[in-house]
Amino acid sequence: MHKSSLALLTGVVTASLFAALGVTTRAAATRPTDQPDYAHLFPHVFARQGPPRRQVSLTFDDGPDSRYTLQILDILKREGVQATFFVLGEQVRRYPNVALRIVREGHALGNHSFDHRNLRKVDKQALTWEVAATERELFRATGYHARFFRAPYGSVDCKVITQLGRMGYTVVNWSVDSRDWRSIPATQVVKNVLSEVRPGAIILQHCAGNEREILTGTVAALPVIIHRLRADGYQFVTIPTLLGPDARAVHAKPAVKRTSLSSVNPLR
Ligand SMILES: [Zn+2]
Repeated sequence: MHKSSLALLTGVVTASLFAALGVTTRAAATRPTDQPDYAHLFPHVFARQGPPRRQVSLTFDDGPDSRYTLQILDILKREGVQATFFVLGEQVRRYPNVALRIVREGHALGNHSFDHRNLRKVDKQALTWEVAATERELFRATGYHARFFRAPYGSVDCKVITQLGRMGYTVVNWSVDSRDWRSIPATQVVKNVLSEVRPGAIILQHCAGNEREILTGTVAALPVIIHRLRADGYQFVTIPTLLGPDARAVHAKPAVKRTSLSSVNPLR
């Protein structure tokens, strides 16, 4: 059997096994089997993977911080890889210079809420605040607004997606969960990613977390993942590049916030 078919099969079998065992991961929480396929319901607003080209997007959530994010940025710079960081407003407020470094080194920034609240459990007003407060911090730190949004825990429903779409965002979950937030060793992070990766994959990793989340595995796994995928012919692109113009929300964007070209990050 061809190696990639085997990897694909392994991923499918693993996913089925996890589903059968009722094991909940952040990925599983994204789309339990009893939930609708939001990518089909909201094709212009919601995405969990890109088109099946030999491209993948590395995404790093919950930053920036002054520890893991810096190490990850160093590795990405050394390897010449562009990634996407879904950042928290409260973290951008703490580490504005790291947010600025992310942008300056050509990575994409996405909005990941202000304080990592489960948006399915808050009202419309609170959701608006979570998003807008983060945008204020992003703009203050970098001069840019985000076009992409990732919900904390990947937790969305029709209401959340509709509201974010109306605010002009493309909502991005993931197709590959490294499960690195469980403080697992690098070998396991590598295995989790490579066993599930396929063309157009959006790979979930973290670049910050609470004090119980040890991300040394993420950092050590990163060069290995990059080298292996490159050897397999994959190109690393940011979410805006992976999803392309097709992913733009069909809803009108708020004119005041995003009309000025200079305030819209062209790469993001
Ligand atoms: Zn998160």
